Amino acid sequence: MMENTNSPIVFASHNENKVTEIKNLLTHFHILDLNDIGFHEEIEETGQSFKENAEIKADAVAGNTQFPVFADDSGLVVPILNFEPGIFSFRYAGTGKSEDNIEKLLKNLENSENRDAYFMTVICLVLNNQKYFFEGRVMGKILPNPIGNAGFGYDPVFLPDGYHLSFAQMSPEEKNQFSHRAVAVNKMRKFLLEHL
Ligand code: IMP
Repeated sequence: MMENTNSPIVFASHNENKVTEIKNLLTHFHILDLNDIGFHEEIEETGQSFKENAEIKADAVAGNTQFPVFADDSGLVVPILNFEPGIFSFRYAGTGKSEDNIEKLLKNLENSENRDAYFMTVICLVLNNQKYFFEGRVMGKILPNPIGNAGFGYDPVFLPDGYHLSFAQMSPEEKNQFSHRAVAVNKMRKFLLEHL
């Protein structure tokens, strides 16, 4: 095993919060973001799955740098709602506002006893012209009402299994210990330590 964690790896995201979260999860690695490599285009997520969208984003950036690139795509999946909002998590209510997305979700679940849900992340890593995928999931339930002020997106209505706090009631450190993104990133981290 050769560890070369000093060589840069590009995270294909324009989202500053995500970049910070990823840097906190990948300590000891030299993570560059899209600004660092001068990539300012918006990448359209036209895929039909988390995996396809992660691949589209990683591919779009990989042609613009000689460094390894990874991209992630995440969302909330509610099986009883035909696996919605899924890849449409950000665009669910059409306004881009988390409050509206949550309102729509709660309305759609109004008469449902089954409130099972999971967050899911897929990462696509492009390394030496090969693609590798890493997946993370966290299972839980949708709460009847939002609770908590931390986090973002659907965090206030997501109660992870085995916990009595919503994601929005947890500190970022606590959430980062077992979140979908953390699980996927830790799988990639292990892989990178073996392959860089
Ligand atoms: P992205 O692919 O990570 O940008 O996630 C797309 C959308 O899924 C976000 O805009 C949120 O609505 C939702 N989402 C993803 N991860 C989380 C999370 O950790 N908490 C709450 N919502 C999330």
